[in-house]
Amino acid sequence: MIICKLISEVRQIVKEQRANGKSIALVPTMGFLHQGHLTLVEEAKKSGAFVVMSIFVNPLQFGPNEDFARYPRDLERDAQKAAGAGVDVIFNPEVEEMYPTKNLTYVEVGELGDSLCGASRPGHFRGVTTVVSKLFHCVQPDQAYFGQKDYQQYLIVRQMVQDLNFPIEVIAVPIVREEDGLALSSRNVYLTPEQRKEALVLQRSLTEAEEWVRQGERSAQVITEQIKAKITSETSGEVDYVEIRSADDLSALTILQGRVLIALAVRFGSTRLIDNKVLEGL
Ligand code: AMP
Repeated sequence: MIICKLISEVRQIVKEQRANGKSIALVPTMGFLHQGHLTLVEEAKKSGAFVVMSIFVNPLQFGPNEDFARYPRDLERDAQKAAGAGVDVIFNPEVEEMYPTKNLTYVEVGELGDSLCGASRPGHFRGVTTVVSKLFHCVQPDQAYFGQKDYQQYLIVRQMVQDLNFPIEVIAVPIVREEDGLALSSRNVYLTPEQRKEALVLQRSLTEAEEWVRQGERSAQVITEQIKAKITSETSGEVDYVEIRSADDLSALTILQGRVLIALAVRFGSTRLIDNKVLEGL
């Protein structure tokens, strides 16, 4: 496995692989790898593609009071895990390589980025779409893999690819969880042991909501209120949002119908965790 720090290096390698008839898969990450990231790689490997994983903590997608500086980084550990999963190239540019001058050009996906995580993290999705566009131009993949853990991000990237005619197939991979149900996240390392236990309420409340729906509840307001009440009564977690939306385009729903996304974000101390569930065929 090769580690590239320069855009010119990764471009050269990809060019050679393409000349050999390989298709190219990109797995964009911010590193501090866990099985969620590695599952994206495993999916990419199944297609027989040459797999490029980017590891880049993108300053553009962090707000001024967010965790850019303290975001966990460990390239050596990441390289071992990535190699074990079959990554062919890690693209790990420095911030100066990606943003050599003040960035003046942005990619923005309108209203899809305004709600849910976009409402509590202004500018976040503009940072994501801008860096993902740049990574797409640097690597020029045929496929790009994204986790449904960040469901809104997946929809936004899919929309961007369609709107801007990137010749790239965007592939979504289901959420990977710990044995006890907590969605894997690089940010889980911030949790104290007590918060780690409390954080199980995210998955628990989504599973319960699914059960309420199975028993016939269809009111988005009733379900979101019940989830919020559960989180605040059972834990010290502070609800950032609990929302029920169309899983196709994030449009607001009062009655659950069709493909439905239940998404939530909860703060435990200074750590903000997200989780979601998609219910099909309502
Ligand atoms: P990150 O490094 O957190 O930016 O995540 C990089 C990619 O891995 C994104 O497409 C995420 O959605 C995906 N990812 C992160 N955690 C998980 C998880 N628990 N299950 C599936 N995909 C994940």
